[in-house]
Amino acid sequence: MFDFLIVNGRVVDGTGSPWFRGSIGIKTGKIRQIAIVKDEASEIIDAEGLVVCPGFIDAHSHSDFVYLANPSASFKVQQGVTTEVVGNCGFSAAPVPSRKNFFKIFQGYIEQISGGFQDIRWTTFREFLNRQERKGMAANLRVLVGHGNLRITSMGMDDRAPAEREISQMKRLLEEAIQRMTSLPAQRFRLLDRDLIRQGMAADIVIFDPKRIRDRSTYVDPCVPPDGVKYVFVNGQLALRENVALSTSHGRVLVRR
Ligand SMILES: [Zn+2]
Repeated sequence: MFDFLIVNGRVVDGTGSPWFRGSIGIKTGKIRQIAIVKDEASEIIDAEGLVVCPGFIDAHSHSDFVYLANPSASFKVQQGVTTEVVGNCGFSAAPVPSRKNFFKIFQGYIEQISGGFQDIRWTTFREFLNRQERKGMAANLRVLVGHGNLRITSMGMDDRAPAEREISQMKRLLEEAIQRMTSLPAQRFRLLDRDLIRQGMAADIVIFDPKRIRDRSTYVDPCVPPDGVKYVFVNGQLALRENVALSTSHGRVLVRR
Protein backbone atom coordinates (compact mmCIF):
# COMPACT_ATOMS: atom_id res chain seq x y z
CA MET A 1 0.00 0.00 0.00
CA PHE A 2 1.53 3.25 -1.17
CA ASP A 3 0.82 6.77 0.05
CA PHE A 4 0.60 7.86 -3.59
CA LEU A 5 0.61 6.03 -6.89
CA ILE A 6 1.25 8.07 -10.04
CA VAL A 7 -0.04 6.20 -13.09
CA ASN A 8 -0.06 6.62 -16.90
CA GLY A 9 2.59 9.33 -16.93
CA ARG A 10 5.54 9.84 -19.26
CA VAL A 11 8.46 9.39 -16.86
CA VAL A 12 11.54 11.51 -17.53
CA ASP A 13 13.90 10.21 -14.86
CA GLY A 14 16.46 13.00 -14.77
CA THR A 15 19.43 11.01 -16.11
CA GLY A 16 18.96 12.26 -19.68
CA SER A 17 17.60 8.88 -20.79
CA PRO A 18 14.55 8.77 -23.08
CA TRP A 19 11.19 8.89 -21.36
CA PHE A 20 9.26 5.77 -20.55
CA ARG A 21 5.73 5.04 -19.53
CA GLY A 22 5.56 3.95 -15.94
CA SER A 23 3.90 4.09 -12.58
CA ILE A 24 5.58 5.43 -9.49
CA GLY A 25 4.76 4.27 -5.98
CA ILE A 26 5.58 6.66 -3.14
CA LYS A 27 5.65 5.69 0.51
CA THR A 28 7.01 7.49 3.59
CA GLY A 29 8.80 10.11 1.57
CA LYS A 30 10.59 7.83 -0.88
CA ILE A 31 10.09 6.47 -4.38
CA ARG A 32 9.49 2.80 -3.65
CA GLN A 33 8.66 1.29 -6.98
CA ILE A 34 8.68 2.24 -10.65
CA ALA A 35 6.91 0.59 -13.58
CA ILE A 36 4.53 -1.36 -11.40
CA VAL A 37 1.01 -1.20 -12.71
CA LYS A 38 -1.35 -2.30 -10.01
CA ASP A 39 -1.15 -1.69 -6.31
CA GLU A 40 -3.15 -0.06 -3.60
CA ALA A 41 -2.54 3.55 -2.68
CA SER A 42 -4.17 6.15 -0.46
CA GLU A 43 -4.31 8.39 -3.49
CA ILE A 44 -3.89 7.56 -7.16
CA ILE A 45 -2.87 10.38 -9.48
CA ASP A 46 -3.66 9.89 -13.15
CA ALA A 47 -0.85 11.53 -15.13
CA GLU A 48 -2.24 10.65 -18.58
CA GLY A 49 -0.76 13.10 -21.08
CA LEU A 50 1.56 14.53 -18.42
CA VAL A 51 5.28 14.35 -17.73
CA VAL A 52 6.50 12.99 -14.40
CA CYS A 53 10.01 14.16 -13.54
CA PRO A 54 12.25 15.00 -10.59
CA GLY A 55 11.54 18.21 -8.70
CA PHE A 56 13.41 21.27 -9.94
CA ILE A 57 16.42 22.60 -8.07
CA ASP A 58 16.73 26.38 -8.02
CA ALA A 59 20.51 26.44 -7.83
CA HIS A 60 20.95 30.18 -7.42
CA SER A 61 18.39 32.06 -5.41
CA HIS A 62 18.36 34.64 -2.65
CA SER A 63 15.54 33.13 -0.64
CA ASP A 64 17.66 33.14 2.50
CA PHE A 65 14.93 34.73 4.60
CA VAL A 66 11.92 33.79 2.50
CA TYR A 67 11.02 30.58 4.31
CA LEU A 68 11.16 32.22 7.73
CA ALA A 69 8.84 35.00 6.59
CA ASN A 70 6.61 32.77 4.46
CA PRO A 71 7.15 29.00 5.01
CA SER A 72 4.62 27.93 2.39
CA ALA A 73 6.50 29.85 -0.38
CA SER A 74 3.73 29.07 -2.84
CA PHE A 75 5.41 31.05 -5.64
CA LYS A 76 8.30 28.57 -5.60
CA VAL A 77 6.22 25.39 -5.44
CA GLN A 78 4.01 26.70 -8.25
CA GLN A 79 7.10 26.65 -10.47
CA GLY A 80 7.92 23.05 -9.56
CA VAL A 81 10.85 23.99 -7.31
CA THR A 82 11.42 21.34 -4.64
CA THR A 83 14.93 22.37 -3.56
CA GLU A 84 16.52 25.80 -3.35
CA VAL A 85 20.20 26.54 -2.93
CA VAL A 86 20.59 29.73 -0.90
CA GLY A 87 23.59 31.61 0.45
CA ASN A 88 24.75 32.78 -2.98
CA CYS A 89 26.82 35.81 -4.02
CA GLY A 90 28.70 35.95 -0.73
CA PHE A 91 25.56 36.56 1.23
CA SER A 92 23.70 34.28 3.65
CA ALA A 93 21.39 34.52 6.63
CA ALA A 94 24.14 33.31 8.98
CA PRO A 95 26.51 33.68 10.67
CA VAL A 96 25.45 37.04 12.08
CA PRO A 97 27.76 39.42 13.99
CA SER A 98 27.08 39.86 17.69
CA ARG A 99 25.00 42.86 18.82
CA LYS A 100 28.02 44.61 20.30
CA ASN A 101 30.16 44.19 17.18
CA PHE A 102 28.90 44.68 13.63
CA PHE A 103 25.22 43.75 13.87
CA LYS A 104 23.89 47.13 12.72
CA ILE A 105 26.21 47.09 9.70
CA PHE A 106 25.09 43.56 8.88
CA GLN A 107 21.44 44.55 9.11
CA GLY A 108 22.03 47.38 6.63
CA TYR A 109 23.90 44.99 4.34
CA ILE A 110 21.08 42.45 4.23
CA GLU A 111 18.18 44.90 4.27
CA GLN A 112 17.50 44.87 0.53
CA ILE A 113 18.17 41.21 -0.16
CA SER A 114 16.07 40.09 2.79
CA GLY A 115 13.14 42.34 1.87
CA GLY A 116 13.55 44.19 5.16
CA PHE A 117 13.50 41.08 7.35
CA GLN A 118 13.95 42.26 10.95
CA ASP A 119 13.47 39.22 13.15
CA ILE A 120 17.07 37.99 13.32
CA ARG A 121 17.28 35.83 16.43
CA TRP A 122 20.33 33.73 15.70
CA THR A 123 24.07 34.20 15.56
CA THR A 124 25.63 30.95 14.39
CA PHE A 125 24.87 28.98 11.25
CA ARG A 126 23.56 26.04 13.30
CA GLU A 127 21.19 28.33 15.21
CA PHE A 128 19.81 29.63 11.92
CA LEU A 129 19.25 26.09 10.56
CA ASN A 130 17.55 25.05 13.79
CA ARG A 131 15.23 28.03 13.63
CA GLN A 132 14.39 27.32 9.98
CA GLU A 133 13.71 23.66 10.72
CA ARG A 134 11.42 24.57 13.61
CA LYS A 135 9.53 27.02 11.43
CA GLY A 136 9.07 24.50 8.62
CA MET A 137 9.33 25.08 4.86
CA ALA A 138 7.48 23.98 1.74
CA ALA A 139 10.62 23.11 -0.26
CA ASN A 140 14.05 21.80 0.68
CA LEU A 141 16.88 24.21 1.43
CA ARG A 142 20.57 23.71 0.72
CA VAL A 143 22.28 26.51 2.61
CA LEU A 144 25.72 27.84 1.68
CA VAL A 145 27.67 30.22 3.90
CA GLY A 146 28.26 33.67 2.41
CA HIS A 147 31.88 34.86 2.55
CA GLY A 148 30.51 38.40 3.04
CA ASN A 149 29.05 37.26 6.35
CA LEU A 150 32.41 35.94 7.48
CA ARG A 151 34.12 39.22 6.63
CA ILE A 152 31.49 41.51 8.18
CA THR A 153 31.33 39.37 11.29
CA SER A 154 35.10 39.67 11.67
CA MET A 155 35.83 43.24 10.51
CA GLY A 156 32.63 45.07 9.54
CA MET A 157 32.74 46.96 6.24
CA ASP A 158 36.36 48.15 6.54
CA ASP A 159 38.01 48.47 3.12
CA ARG A 160 41.42 47.03 4.03
CA ALA A 161 43.25 43.75 4.21
CA PRO A 162 42.18 41.74 7.26
CA ALA A 163 44.54 41.58 10.21
CA GLU A 164 45.96 38.27 11.40
CA ARG A 165 43.49 37.94 14.26
CA GLU A 166 40.57 38.71 11.91
CA ILE A 167 41.76 36.06 9.45
CA SER A 168 41.89 33.48 12.20
CA GLN A 169 38.35 34.43 13.26
CA MET A 170 37.18 33.98 9.65
CA LYS A 171 38.90 30.62 9.53
CA ARG A 172 37.04 29.48 12.62
CA LEU A 173 33.76 30.58 11.02
CA LEU A 174 34.85 28.89 7.77
CA GLU A 175 35.47 25.66 9.62
CA GLU A 176 31.85 25.70 10.69
CA ALA A 177 30.86 26.33 7.07
CA ILE A 178 33.11 23.64 5.60
CA GLN A 179 31.75 21.14 8.05
CA ARG A 180 28.37 21.59 6.38
CA MET A 181 29.51 21.71 2.78
CA THR A 182 31.28 19.30 0.49
CA SER A 183 34.87 20.19 -0.18
CA LEU A 184 34.87 20.78 -3.94
CA PRO A 185 32.75 23.45 -5.64
CA ALA A 186 31.47 20.91 -8.16
CA GLN A 187 30.19 18.80 -5.31
CA ARG A 188 28.71 21.68 -3.35
CA PHE A 189 25.18 20.69 -4.23
CA ARG A 190 25.67 16.93 -4.02
CA LEU A 191 22.19 15.87 -3.27
CA LEU A 192 22.79 12.17 -3.53
CA ASP A 193 19.51 10.95 -2.12
CA ARG A 194 17.15 12.86 -4.38
CA ASP A 195 16.39 14.25 -7.82
CA LEU A 196 16.45 11.05 -9.80
CA ILE A 197 13.34 9.03 -10.41
CA ARG A 198 14.92 5.94 -9.00
CA GLN A 199 14.04 3.44 -6.35
CA GLY A 200 15.10 4.55 -2.91
CA MET A 201 15.41 8.22 -3.83
CA ALA A 202 13.58 10.88 -1.86
CA ALA A 203 10.30 11.59 -3.65
CA ASP A 204 10.80 15.17 -4.85
CA ILE A 205 8.70 14.99 -8.00
CA VAL A 206 7.07 17.39 -10.43
CA ILE A 207 4.19 16.43 -12.71
CA PHE A 208 3.61 18.93 -15.49
CA ASP A 209 1.75 19.24 -18.75
CA PRO A 210 4.35 19.58 -21.53
CA LYS A 211 1.83 21.24 -23.83
CA ARG A 212 0.83 23.90 -21.35
CA ILE A 213 3.89 24.63 -19.29
CA ARG A 214 4.88 28.26 -19.62
CA ASP A 215 5.87 31.26 -17.60
CA ARG A 216 3.07 33.79 -17.30
CA SER A 217 4.63 36.40 -15.06
CA THR A 218 5.99 39.66 -16.40
CA TYR A 219 8.01 42.49 -14.94
CA VAL A 220 4.78 44.45 -14.61
CA ASP A 221 2.93 41.56 -13.01
CA PRO A 222 5.55 39.28 -11.46
CA CYS A 223 3.27 37.26 -9.18
CA VAL A 224 1.26 35.35 -11.77
CA PRO A 225 2.07 31.65 -11.31
CA PRO A 226 3.24 29.63 -14.32
CA ASP A 227 0.86 27.44 -16.26
CA GLY A 228 1.14 23.66 -16.61
CA VAL A 229 2.71 22.55 -13.32
CA LYS A 230 0.01 20.22 -11.99
CA TYR A 231 1.47 18.37 -9.02
CA VAL A 232 4.58 18.83 -6.90
CA PHE A 233 5.79 16.36 -4.30
CA VAL A 234 8.34 17.36 -1.69
CA ASN A 235 9.71 14.45 0.30
CA GLY A 236 6.81 12.28 -0.81
CA GLN A 237 4.08 14.70 0.25
CA LEU A 238 1.96 16.85 -2.01
CA ALA A 239 2.99 20.52 -2.03
CA LEU A 240 0.90 21.43 -5.08
CA ARG A 241 -2.26 19.79 -6.37
CA GLU A 242 -4.01 20.70 -9.63
CA ASN A 243 -1.97 23.92 -9.89
CA VAL A 244 -2.85 25.03 -6.37
CA ALA A 245 0.00 25.34 -3.87
CA LEU A 246 -0.93 23.71 -0.58
CA SER A 247 0.12 25.31 2.65
CA THR A 248 2.61 22.61 3.57
CA SER A 249 5.95 22.37 5.29
CA HIS A 250 7.34 19.10 4.02
CA GLY A 251 10.65 20.61 2.95
CA ARG A 252 13.86 20.08 4.85
CA VAL A 253 17.15 21.73 5.33
CA LEU A 254 19.53 19.50 3.37
CA VAL A 255 22.86 19.15 5.14
CA ARG A 256 25.55 16.52 5.18
CA ARG A 257 24.97 14.23 8.11
ZN1 LIG B 1 23.07 36.03 -6.64
